[in-house]
Amino acid sequence: MKEKSIDPASRIQDLENFGEFGGVNPSVTDSATYTFMHAKTMLETFQGEAEGCFLYSRHWNPSNKYLADAMAAMEGTEAAWVTASGMGAISNAIMQICQAGDHIVSSVTTYGGTFALMKNYLPKFNIETRFVRITDLEAVEKAIQPNTKMIYTESVTNPLLEVSDLPKLSEIARKHNVKLVVDNTFTPMIIEPRKLGADVVVYSLTKFVNGKNDCVAGAICGDVDFISSLIDVNEGTSMLLGPVLDPLRSSQILKNLHTLHIRMKQHSENAMYLADKLSGLGLKIVYPGLTGHPGHELMKKQMNTGFGYGGMLTLDVNSAERAAELMECLELKGVGYLAVSLGYFKTLFSNSGKSTSSEVPEEIQKEMGMSEGLIRFSVGLDHNIKRTFKLFKNCLEDLEFL
Ligand code: PLP
Repeated sequence: MKEKSIDPASRIQDLENFGEFGGVNPSVTDSATYTFMHAKTMLETFQGEAEGCFLYSRHWNPSNKYLADAMAAMEGTEAAWVTASGMGAISNAIMQICQAGDHIVSSVTTYGGTFALMKNYLPKFNIETRFVRITDLEAVEKAIQPNTKMIYTESVTNPLLEVSDLPKLSEIARKHNVKLVVDNTFTPMIIEPRKLGADVVVYSLTKFVNGKNDCVAGAICGDVDFISSLIDVNEGTSMLLGPVLDPLRSSQILKNLHTLHIRMKQHSENAMYLADKLSGLGLKIVYPGLTGHPGHELMKKQMNTGFGYGGMLTLDVNSAERAAELMECLELKGVGYLAVSLGYFKTLFSNSGKSTSSEVPEEIQKEMGMSEGLIRFSVGLDHNIKRTFKLFKNCLEDLEFL
């Protein structure tokens, strides 16, 4: 018997799934439907009673199952299901938990698409959301109503990089019998929300997990009952709305997942170096690895060791105009690309208020403390980060930021 691994990278490494001809990678199942030798087994599969049978690829596909099992192994959950985008995962998890008339308490700082889903779209189904500052635990608890069904947050929030206190949020959730749903897109390997008390963990696999920026994908990780409920043929949100991931993409993402631990270390090492150097120049840098970050100690308490503090940092240059000048220069000098998204091998940067958080009205941006000059960086896998810093500094000098 093999020893059970305790860290997420080793749990992924321990998976052994051979292809049908002994290939070292699992075979790709390029089929939408599956044949049965006995009609009775087909009926049992429809009723969710036949083990190991595949019915139709909107429900399960073996290639998706391999990726889902690997995500569940990483997250320490019983099961997972993979979706065609991160938003597919978030919307399906929420709609599976909430009915018309229900209520959500959410961090006001969340990915702009999630904010728009809760603020603009879910009210169509009579699901209302109260947005709170997630670091204010008193405000979180006060916002809970009799019809609240979930507390929603991101482990490290987008784009302000606040650290959610997951054990405390979980305590509040348990006390009020609501679910804690956590988006762990920014911190795979680094934070394990399940271990810290989350009920459901959602992901955009588009970002660090895949790491290649060649597709969009997502995952929902949770207990077997929850994942089974999502794909119930009569009532499951995912089965009925159908945001399933393509199996060819699943097989690619699975291979990339096996190098995630190495990439996270490098993203974190590079981000730490830049955060340290840039804040040393007197710039307004936010990075959870810096001792001055208000969530630094909490992050240290919650994180797995060996993967660093993540690849995301922000720089506030006060105005959107100055942010635009700097970003254009950084792109020209070769620091990275002016682009939305994150978790890529090249550094990506964008002005959050004018891009990935533009769905958040300006007054709420101000209220949550998001400056219009905030640039969010997803630091890449640069081999020579010292050289990157020099290029960065050239721009800062040319544009008289220093
Ligand atoms: N969650 C976070 C934290 C994100 O940053 C994003 C996208 O930027 C998403 C979810 C949505 O993921 P996708 O674009 O794969 O739908």
